[in-house]
Order: sequence, then C-alpha cells, then structure tokens
Amino acid sequence: MAANDAGALLALGEGGAASEESASASAAPSDEETVGQDKDEIDDGAESADSDGRGQILSHPLDRWSKDQIEAALAKDPDSLGSMSIGYAHAGALVNGVQMPPGDGWELVNAEHAWGTRETVDNLTHCLKRVSEFFPGAARMYIGHISGRRGGHLSPHKSHQCGRDVDVSYYYQSGQEKWYATATAANLDRERTWAFVRTLITDTDVELILMDRSVQRLVRQFAIARGEDREWIDRLFDGGGGLSPLIRHAKGHATHLHVRFYNPLAQETGRRSYEILVKRRILQPPS
Ligand SMILES: [Zn+2]
Repeated sequence: MAANDAGALLALGEGGAASEESASASAAPSDEETVGQDKDEIDDGAESADSDGRGQILSHPLDRWSKDQIEAALAKDPDSLGSMSIGYAHAGALVNGVQMPPGDGWELVNAEHAWGTRETVDNLTHCLKRVSEFFPGAARMYIGHISGRRGGHLSPHKSHQCGRDVDVSYYYQSGQEKWYATATAANLDRERTWAFVRTLITDTDVELILMDRSVQRLVRQFAIARGEDREWIDRLFDGGGGLSPLIRHAKGHATHLHVRFYNPLAQETGRRSYEILVKRRILQPPS
C-alpha cells in the first residue's frame, strides 16, 4: 500500500531540495502526442501537486554518511550511490537512472524516454512479471514514457520529471492491443488489468494511479464481481467517498494508465546529495 502514514517516520532532510520552479506550463505539442486524443499537456501532475511524495523507509544506506563522504563518493564513482529522484514529479530531475529493460510481454514505446530509478524499474518489472505468471498468454502491452535519462521536463507531461512516473497501456483483449487505444468494455482485458493494478497496490509502494473514470468503472465492477472486499474497493477508486483515493480520474487517461511510485531510497538519496550535486555541477540549480 502507499504508505502515507509510515512516511512520517522518515528522517527528513530539508525536503524538496530541488527547484520550486513551476512545471513548464506551455509545452509545445510534439509529435509524441499526436497519437493522443488531447492536444493539451497531459494532466498527470496537477492532482498531486500537494504531495511531497515521501515513501516508507525506516533506514537508509546513507544514514551514517557525512556530507564529505557523500561528496567523496560522488567524485570517485557517482554510480555507487545508486538512483536519485530529485525534487518533485512536476519539477525534478533524475540522477543515475536505469533504463526499463525489454521484456517478453511488453514493448517500450520509446526507450529513450523510459528511464526511471532502480526502484521504479524494479517495481514495474515485478508487477508485469506477476501478471504474466498469474495469467500467461496476455496480449502484448506497452510501456510509454517514464522519464528522460536525466529527468526534467518531458513533453507533453507535467510530471514524469524525477523517474517515479510511468505510463503503461491497459491490458487489451488479444488482437486489440495497440498503444494509446481507448480502453472500452469491448477491448479491455479486465482480468489482467485488475491483476496489474492489484499487484501495484499490494506489492509496491505506489503513490497514485491515474485512470479515466470510464475505465475505472469497468475495472471496479470486475474486482467486485471477483469477490474483492467491497470496502477496500470503495476506498481505492474514485467516487467511493474516500478523500484522496489511490486510483484517480485525470483527463487523458482512457488510453493508458499513469502510475507514480514512492521511491523511498532514491528520493532520500536525492535529498541528501542535492547540494553536492549542484556544487559539482552534476545538476543545474533551479533557475
Ligand atoms: Zn503519465
């Protein structure tokens, strides 16, 4: 489960060290988005602009490290510190990113824009593999944008800046699979889509899932028919009375779902290293 409450246990640094600059509000439409229905920037960040994106972690590999030790490690072997997710989903950067690997059941829409933190890539890969284990023989599905290699603005998104956001296709019925196909009662593979979403929730530190209401309805009905706990389902989906459900509606998400993971390791490494990254010019300071 997303561990908002447990996140409070974090020994926090200065918090949100990276730029407060607003997300670029006027991304020029690019060829990347011509496949989409919306000509506007995709609304994948606004709904969580209030979130500081902290995950659950009780200890951290850098717990006993001084700033000098971190600086020495960065000078000698920057990779040794692992992935760093800097700042916010809508104003951030990625250091030591990991490229999503190809897999049997999925295709990368654009490998250059499929960089995440180690945690993000591992979480995503885990869930995809679990669905294949539970329900072999799925139609191919697609991994859209995660982040650019170094994070930062990635057209046409508001978020996807710090290696924690992933766009993935829905699972479709065999023969209907296609990147950016609008999910409908006729083409949605409800069983695998629910299995994927359920695994995200039960097995990873997921912060939010954006899904169009029309698709939520289909997946939610399926989950209830499948015998899932009604109260749990009501809390998870939009419109169940929960204040801030994990699965939320956002414009532009009938064609794919958007997942944001907490990255307790990479976010904390980023906070602790930020000043030094800027000092060593590995990162640009906020402008
Ligand atoms: Zn997205």
